[in-house]
Amino acid sequence: MSKILIAANWKMNKTDNEVISFLKKLTRNNNIISQLEIIIFPSFVSLITAYNLLKKTRIKLGTQNISNKEKGAYTGEVSVSMVAPFCSYVILGHSERRIYFYENYKDVNEKIKLALKFKLKPILCLGETSNERKKGLVLKVIRNQLNMAIKSLSAKDIKKIIFAYEPIWAIGTGKNDKPEDTNLISSQIKRLLINRFNLKNEEIKIIYGGSVNLNNIEEFLIKAKINGFLIGKASLDYYNFSKIINLIKKQNDKKIFKPR
Ligand code: PEP
Repeated sequence: MSKILIAANWKMNKTDNEVISFLKKLTRNNNIISQLEIIIFPSFVSLITAYNLLKKTRIKLGTQNISNKEKGAYTGEVSVSMVAPFCSYVILGHSERRIYFYENYKDVNEKIKLALKFKLKPILCLGETSNERKKGLVLKVIRNQLNMAIKSLSAKDIKKIIFAYEPIWAIGTGKNDKPEDTNLISSQIKRLLINRFNLKNEEIKIIYGGSVNLNNIEEFLIKAKINGFLIGKASLDYYNFSKIINLIKKQNDKKIFKPR
């Protein structure tokens, strides 16, 4: 059975010393970690530090981005081959990249192909703005984003991708989606992929992200039919993050939350 996935997106936070201090505490907690797929996403600069601290543990490392170019004269960019030796995952299509750095899903599609070529598992973010939600366009928006992002991929490729439903209005705002609404989007994404690629339900992994924290995670654990969480702000403080991990483990032990 697949493990519950908990992806900690640290964004542009934490110096190298802060990464060391957090990961030293986290790696002491090994018995909890065996039941979960915990993935830490520090900045590019701290990937090698984090890799050295995590390489003998079950905790996985991911990168927050890669270039859509394989190599060459692209000042300031970081290529997939530079990070692939250290990482297992890459976050792609995050709304902060789309909004602040004008990435579109054509770029995301190119990045997914590069990630897969270098054996990185993409966490593909999909999500609507509050305006799109108000206009009842959620499913249409998600379908369009998905179609562009997975253009010319195969069923084998799709199985390697983790789909993260991340409503833009919920990211970093303290407002989370209702688990029932997340279930609706998640089942639509699954239906689309199952029909198009002839896959089984359990071959598609969907996680939720958007202001997940200690106050709302229990409701998600009870009601949401998902495979895990992408967590930003609430993953930054070690004690807060470890409480979240403990809660997930407890619900998993009680068989309340199982990845589906
Ligand atoms: C994110 O950035 O992917 C995210 C989910 O952030 P937050 O948990 O802070 O909303």
